[in-house]
Amino acid sequence: MSLYAELHRHLGGSVVPRVLWRYFHRSDRDLAQRFPEYPEFEEFYTRPRNTLDEYLELHTLVESVQTAQTLPYFIYRLIRGAYIFENLAYLELRYTPYLRTPDHLSQSERIEKMAEIVDIVGISSRVPEYPIVTSQILCMHSRLPYEVNRAIVDLASQAKEYVCAVDIAGGDAHVAERLDEFVGLFEYARSLGIKTTGHLFETSSGCYPQLLPYLMRIGHGIQIPLKYPELLPEVAQRNQCLEVCPTTYLKTGTLEDMRQLKLVFDRCFDAGVDIAICTDNAGLHNVRLPFEYENLLTLDVIGFDQLQACQEAAFRHAFAWPYAQRPASILTGLLQTESGDTLAIGG
Ligand SMILES: [Zn+2]
Repeated sequence: MSLYAELHRHLGGSVVPRVLWRYFHRSDRDLAQRFPEYPEFEEFYTRPRNTLDEYLELHTLVESVQTAQTLPYFIYRLIRGAYIFENLAYLELRYTPYLRTPDHLSQSERIEKMAEIVDIVGISSRVPEYPIVTSQILCMHSRLPYEVNRAIVDLASQAKEYVCAVDIAGGDAHVAERLDEFVGLFEYARSLGIKTTGHLFETSSGCYPQLLPYLMRIGHGIQIPLKYPELLPEVAQRNQCLEVCPTTYLKTGTLEDMRQLKLVFDRCFDAGVDIAICTDNAGLHNVRLPFEYENLLTLDVIGFDQLQACQEAAFRHAFAWPYAQRPASILTGLLQTESGDTLAIGG
């Protein structure tokens, strides 16, 4: 059995439509009235949007119901689904902790509450009956004030038991006017020994080469091979991995056809740049990780050898996978006898 590593999944977009709809009907009368029937809700929730900003609006619907009280409910279902349906051995879950705190509090009170959210997410992710190695990436947000983003970096350095890295999310076009500020924040994160990834080069309005040197992985980054292939050699030299999330680009209007990703994979393989295939928002898209793999194979974007290379790259670039090997090699080791023969199973 193959077990997978998922490096790019948002907590907000990880709730599959049926779990969210059922939650509304169990616990939220207003939202239950707004969406009385499931098929209409699924259609509303998963339909493609015209732009990245419009698409990100949908996250606010989920963020509003993911509170300290309800997070264990959603995370238990997320981990159960990831274990049963996706064969995940490793999962990095990302979100902006500030946006899970009560919005009637002051900014400084909300900052103080962030640590509690990280603990709740960390504890809830450890489900004994569905064991997956998990860690959190805390997302700075392109529309939140500097003080909040700096507090997110500080929290990442204090909560290392649960947190493996920081990210910048919230729409890549909004980084432009505060680029120096975000360069400074990533510099600060690296100075504290925090690992880094960032939503960058996702759309053509989010290309900031100035930020690249501070990142260990690149969230999406597809515009590098598509529009700035001259940057690929330095990306390879820095051993930066692209987190490519195929379904996202159709849902945000960034690409018209998933086959356009062939150029992304081909150019990265030629330049020696690793790619990890990820879901981004498996719930919002209603597309789980194995189906992302299968879609790429079906459309001839990649072949099986390339798929396996990407699956191995995901474990190599995982920020908190605690073993030198990926689980497939550990399982293969278990099946070897002392003399090196493979055990006959069921024979
Ligand atoms: Zn993302």
